[in-house]
Amino acid sequence: MADYQCMKCNYRFTKERKPLACPFCGKTGTVDFVPDANDILADVGEQEKRMQDIEERKKEWDNRRK
Ligand SMILES: [Zn+2]
Repeated sequence: MADYQCMKCNYRFTKERKPLACPFCGKTGTVDFVPDANDILADVGEQEKRMQDIEERKKEWDNRRK
């Protein structure tokens, strides 16, 4: 199951597959996938990891300059 949202009327719903038309307003081509909270949290975790990598690399460079 995944979350989808209609970009036309902002109606949000959960469905197995992305529907062609919005079940609320009936418009086609306006429904977009909405990543759920867990996906967003995973992304944030990845970003933090990358930031830490960059910080560590910076420290390494500073040490080499000394
Ligand atoms: Zn709609």
